[in-house]
Amino acid sequence: MAATILVVEDEPAIQELISYNLELAGHHVVCAETGEQAFSLIQGELPDLVLLDWMLPGASGIDVARRLRGNERTRQIPIIMLTARTDERDKLLGLDTGADDYITKPFSPRELIARIKAVLRRRAPQMTDDLVVMGELKLDPVSHRVTGCGKPIDLGPTEFRLLHFLMTHPGRVHSRVQFLDQIWGDHVFVEERTVDVHIRRLRKALESCGLESMIQTVRGAGYRMSVD
Ligand code: CA
Repeated sequence: MAATILVVEDEPAIQELISYNLELAGHHVVCAETGEQAFSLIQGELPDLVLLDWMLPGASGIDVARRLRGNERTRQIPIIMLTARTDERDKLLGLDTGADDYITKPFSPRELIARIKAVLRRRAPQMTDDLVVMGELKLDPVSHRVTGCGKPIDLGPTEFRLLHFLMTHPGRVHSRVQFLDQIWGDHVFVEERTVDVHIRRLRKALESCGLESMIQTVRGAGYRMSVD
C-alpha cells in the first residue's frame, strides 16, 4: 500500500528519520516544517495521510489539525499527531481536534508504520492491499485480479480503482466530485461526466457475470455499491 504522506515536523533529524522509514515502507513522502508550508503543499495535492507534530513554530499542530478538519476539501484526510507529551489532558485536547491517532516521541519506526497502516485501513481502506469480497465479487489489490461468481473479470486500470473504492465503501453514496478526488486525484482536471463513462464501462464488465446491478445510480447524488 503506497500512500502519499505529508510529514509536518520542524526538527530536521526527526523529519529525516520519519521520511527514511516511510519511504522504506513504500510510501511517498512530502515534508513541511510549519503549518503554513503544509497548507501550501496541500493546496497543490491532497495527501492520503498527515503526520503532524504537536510543537511547531507558528501555528501549533493542534491549530493545523483544526484547520484541516474545518475545511471541506481537507476534512477527510486522516491525521496522526506526533507528541512529546503523554498526559491524558493533552491527549483529550488532541482528540477534540479530530486526530485519528497519536504517537508519543520517541517511537520506533515499526510502531510508526503499524499505526499508519491501521489508520489507513480504518479511514482509507482503498489504500490497503487487503482482499475485498462483496457478495459474489472478489477483488485482489495485490494480483490486480477481479472475479465475479468465480470467473475472471477484465478491467482497465481506472475501472479497477473505481471498483476498489466502491467495494471498500459499500452502501455509501459518492458524488462525481468525490470520485474525481479519490480516483483521479483532486489536482487533476477531469470533467464530471468522465465518471459516468467509467461507471458505464465498469457495469458493462460486471454484466458478464450478471452483477451490474450492484452499482446503483442515486438520482441527483451520485453512485453507490451494494449487494442488493
Ligand atoms: Ca517540533
